[in-house]
Amino acid sequence: MSTNYGGYTGKVLHIDLSTREFSEYPWTDQDRELYLGGKIMAAKILYDNLTTKIDPFSAANLLVITTGPLTGSGAPSSSRFNISTLSPLTGFIASSNCGGSFGLFLKKAGYDALILAGKAPEPVWIEIHNETVAFHTAGGLWGKTTGETQKLLGAGIGKIVIGPAGENLVRYASIASGERMAGRAGVGAVMGSKHLKAVVVSGDNTVRTADRTSMKKVYQSWLKQLREHPLTGKLLPKLGTAGLLIPMNAHKILATRNYQYGQYKDFELISGETLAAKHLVKNRGCQTCPIQCGRVVRVEGQEVKGPELETLGILG
Ligand code: SF4
Repeated sequence: MSTNYGGYTGKVLHIDLSTREFSEYPWTDQDRELYLGGKIMAAKILYDNLTTKIDPFSAANLLVITTGPLTGSGAPSSSRFNISTLSPLTGFIASSNCGGSFGLFLKKAGYDALILAGKAPEPVWIEIHNETVAFHTAGGLWGKTTGETQKLLGAGIGKIVIGPAGENLVRYASIASGERMAGRAGVGAVMGSKHLKAVVVSGDNTVRTADRTSMKKVYQSWLKQLREHPLTGKLLPKLGTAGLLIPMNAHKILATRNYQYGQYKDFELISGETLAAKHLVKNRGCQTCPIQCGRVVRVEGQEVKGPELETLGILG
């Protein structure tokens, strides 16, 4: 199904893990007008398909991975993507937003969105390259951590993977994509329930732009605003999301002990300022993003990803 709009590939891929069949899911330009953006697009797909009460771990549940029209267009901070499903944690529709480059690679593979349905009889991983889909048995990957799995799958491609938590249906399990996590509402457990260890995407597709000159003008002014804003131009590039620890602690709005306290003693020992002074090696962030809020830190001689605000607030 093609599209008259720039910003889209015009195709949504539906894969049935039970039968290994794949097809194009109908998504029209009228749908693109009415359901603009990945999150609402996924909500509409779930609304249309989950018409009766189901168990989130049943084959009837869908894992819907969506991008928006700006993904792949070069717009600042636009490489994030969305994963939606019926949550095994809450019983409601969940939407988990993730950094990294999977969305960009999905568009390069030729798709705006990916719908994963059914349940594989045994663990598999899926490879999508330039609109071709290949299934692989995941026996050798099953049981491995998200880091180990991603290393084995290789570099230079978009990846989403689960670790042992997702495989074992832990109801708050995440899906990892590079160093980023779709961490909300157990999307990883739904992927595990489908016996799906990983999806990798790659290709050579480019996204058509309706009016490149106007687009560039808007992006330049947008970039300027991001650079001049105190949060996106100063605090986040300098300290990462850890830089929000001190102000949020002062306002008692940290998720400390499951939101029982909102703040904790000794927060300054692991604040963004302390981490920057003692451990920061360099900034690292999502493609096309001028903010680069991610950290690479050195701890006990090893370079690892620095903790985000959520980790510091909850585990600090
Ligand atoms: S680098 Fe940080 S601010 Fe930029 S898109 Fe990724 S998560 Fe968002």
